[in-house]
Amino acid sequence: MTYYEVQSSPASRWSGTLRAKRRWALPGLEDCPGCHATWSGVLEYPAVDLSDLPEAHELEEVRPEHWPEYSRLLELVRPYCPPGAHLEPGTGFGPLVGSARGKWGPVTLVDIASLLVREDAIHTLSGLNLTYVWPQLRRPPSPRIAEIHLAPLGRLAPECSQSDQETPCAVCGRDGGLLPQHYWLDAASIPADTDAFRLTDAATLVIVSGRMADRINDLGDSDIMLTPIGTTKPPNFQPPKPLNADGVGIVIRRAPSDI
Ligand SMILES: [Zn+2]
Repeated sequence: MTYYEVQSSPASRWSGTLRAKRRWALPGLEDCPGCHATWSGVLEYPAVDLSDLPEAHELEEVRPEHWPEYSRLLELVRPYCPPGAHLEPGTGFGPLVGSARGKWGPVTLVDIASLLVREDAIHTLSGLNLTYVWPQLRRPPSPRIAEIHLAPLGRLAPECSQSDQETPCAVCGRDGGLLPQHYWLDAASIPADTDAFRLTDAATLVIVSGRMADRINDLGDSDIMLTPIGTTKPPNFQPPKPLNADGVGIVIRRAPSDI
């Protein structure tokens, strides 16, 4: 199986924009009792419906909470999620709610990691293992746009990580990881029938299968780029060196067109 990373194209042909947020979200975690971090991640489960959860209204306001309250809400949500779902502070659930403007291309990546498909393009993607969620928009565009549920699953290969990467916090799971300069997938962590997903350890990466990439290319011009992402170590790969004591905290990734 081949895979591609989905990124926004620097040249935009389409004017579609979205102002929306998830209907529900776990609170962020304030002062974790394990690592003392206050943090919130970016994982999302658009297809997880919490309408039947009596306490769902407690998940409508974005805010940080201390561990006891955070973990209480986490355990309320867990039965509504797929078995073994990776959950972290700030995880969003349910459809996007808000407003959309402009003209939409066949496939659009918004807010880094939400993948939207125009309604008339969905038949071209038929037969793929995809779940669609319809955003709740005040004035939906015509044709409408659907969001593809990008389940957080799969990982980067452990060898790509910085050798001095923090061990994940035993309480909250925060790993403080930066995206490695060179990375590839841990193929064994990805179920074979998966066509679109995010990574649990690099949640801003959106990955699609090769067969899905072919269909997207059949749809014509979209404001996205599809960049191959490997499943084996590149032949010239040098193991990452530890950061120096002063620690450079930001990794700037170049677009493939600059390489
Ligand atoms: Zn922690």
